[in-house]
Amino acid sequence: MLHPLIANPSATRHILKKFKLRAVKGLGQNFLIDAEVVRRIVEAAEICAGDEVLEIGAGIGTLTQGLLEAGAKVTAIEVDKKLPAVLKETLAGYENFKLVEGDVLKINLAELMPRRFKVAANLPYYITTQILLTLLEKNLPATKIVTMVQREVAERMTASPGSKIYGALSVAVQFRSEARIAFDVPPESFLPSPEVTSSVVVCDVRKPPFEVDEEFFTKVVRTAFAQRRKTLANSLAATFERGKVLSALENSGIDGARRAETLSLAEFAKLSEVLK
Ligand code: SAM
Repeated sequence: MLHPLIANPSATRHILKKFKLRAVKGLGQNFLIDAEVVRRIVEAAEICAGDEVLEIGAGIGTLTQGLLEAGAKVTAIEVDKKLPAVLKETLAGYENFKLVEGDVLKINLAELMPRRFKVAANLPYYITTQILLTLLEKNLPATKIVTMVQREVAERMTASPGSKIYGALSVAVQFRSEARIAFDVPPESFLPSPEVTSSVVVCDVRKPPFEVDEEFFTKVVRTAFAQRRKTLANSLAATFERGKVLSALENSGIDGARRAETLSLAEFAKLSEVLK
């Protein structure tokens, strides 16, 4: 069956009009209208026939269609109650498509995706960080996470220690994956156009490079960055006992006068294990 392409301005306008829809700003609805961007996301995700793919935020099925055409088996989550009826029509005839209605942050992803899978998504920008942290910290069998995010978030995900934008998100992403910005996407590639440039980030998930108690590690990292302007000793002492913080810093060979943004992954790993 030949399917009309969704990824262009006229098809998208036609679908929105037909179903009397308006993009809902509060749900981060910026629909892709650029077939080349869809193609490049599918390419960045290295989709092969039979790959299990989780898409977060199917919208009207634009990226979903690209993934399905490449042979993926797509499970897509969508929270907007008006969209299932649209997807039923735009993706009619594709056999390997499963829609899960609901909020991605409330769905048990481990249960939904029990086998190895890839993520490909044009994320709703208002909850990008929560979604990324859920995907990375829940130890799901995800092997590759390819997401469209705001350029500024992409830069934070891939920032190096010592840079002003290196923070808890950078550590969470880089602790569990090799992350890189694949390409930028201009506002004109979406309907409606967002105000900022977007980027597609590829995270190749791997085992963390250091063995740590992950829950405690996450707590230490978040506490350390909670007050960026404070020294490490002071920000950690807001949650942990000051005496223990000072001796853990000394035993890890880390100067407590440093700020969290200067610590490497190895230093955070060591500090969290000693503090524990
Ligand atoms: N994939 C489509 C595309 O590329 O054109 C739509 C992308 S749009 C940026 C984000 C989508 O995420 C919207 O369809 C929106 O309704 C959906 N969404 C927003 N919040 C969500 C949530 N909490 N759970 C699941 N989907 C959500």
